[in-house]
Amino acid sequence: MSVAILGGGISGLACGYKLSKRGIKIRIFESEPYLGGLASWYKYCGLNIPKTYHHVLRSDAALIDMIEELKLSIRWKKVKTGFYSKGKIFPFNTALDLMRFKHLPLTDRLKFGLLLLSTRWSSSLQYLEKISIESWIRILVGLCLSFGRSLGQNYRLRLFPFLS
Ligand SMILES: Cc1cc2nc3c(=O)[nH]c(=O)nc-3n(C[C@H](O)[C@H](O)[C@H](O)COP(=O)(O)OP(=O)(O)OC[C@H]3O[C@@H](n4cnc5c(N)ncnc54)[C@H](O)[C@@H]3O)c2cc1C
Repeated sequence: MSVAILGGGISGLACGYKLSKRGIKIRIFESEPYLGGLASWYKYCGLNIPKTYHHVLRSDAALIDMIEELKLSIRWKKVKTGFYSKGKIFPFNTALDLMRFKHLPLTDRLKFGLLLLSTRWSSSLQYLEKISIESWIRILVGLCLSFGRSLGQNYRLRLFPFLS
């Protein structure tokens, strides 16, 4: 048996790897001149710049297993997140950072905190597969618009790549 795989992003490559381990002949068809899809990078001033930022979390068990199996190494780094607004970077890592984030009204900060906690408390998040993140946030706390507005004009353009 041989299998044709359309797309040489991480899904196509992982699929190809798993199938070939079972002795199945595979052929990957990729329309771009490079592999990796969204997880690829481009050269800029001699640097490899990721097309989109990526994090690997310790909970990404399947990915980490595959990385280990392929004998690739991971150099773990603790990353901090910040929120750039009006010429200043506001740390956005802890509950305290959220409470100090003055660009959101206090009620929205509290709602946002509850939203984050609800994802931790929830025993199953399968239902989230069926709704867009925007609808989920709207349903849960109606926060999306006021959070978006704090990003200034054209916030939808900036916010929605992360929410779609
Ligand atoms: C801003 C951003 C941040 C992200 N951060 C993270 C993160 O931190 N951690 C994480 O795990 N994931 C993250 N992701 C998601 C992750 O990038 C994707 O889930 C993953 O790369 C998708 O891989 P894929 O192979 O399914 O699709 P793609 O990477 O989209 O690959 C599809 C491939 O198929 C090719 N293709 C399409 N049509 C055809 C065709 N007709 N014929 C031939 N080839 C075709 C495309 O050129 C492409 O190479 C992020 C995504 C974005 C946009």
